[in-house]
Amino acid sequence: MIAGLGNIYVCEALWRSHLSPKRASGTLVTKTGRPKAELLRLTENIRAVIADAIAAGGSSLKDHIQADGSLGYFQHSFSVYDREGKECRTEGCGGTIARMVQSGRSTFYCPSCQK
Ligand SMILES: [Zn+2]
Repeated sequence: MIAGLGNIYVCEALWRSHLSPKRASGTLVTKTGRPKAELLRLTENIRAVIADAIAAGGSSLKDHIQADGSLGYFQHSFSVYDREGKECRTEGCGGTIARMVQSGRSTFYCPSCQK
């Protein structure tokens, strides 16, 4: 389990995994509680998104500042976050990025390829 994963990274990891933010987490495990392939893929993508963000200097949409005072620039490489109305970048998808608000936070996703 990952607690407190930033909203941006949640959006990016779900998009990479082609999983809808509306999916109930219980549908990602078998009846005996074992992780399904989708959950393993999501876990890998969460790690990858975080690694990419660190490599890019962190996200600076709100308050992240690097030790030298410069702003992070991961926001320039978002695949789905803050892209409402734009074309999905999943190859061959052709869908349009949508936004929904959950407890005051915006979640961006592609209704076409995130199931
Ligand atoms: Zn898509």
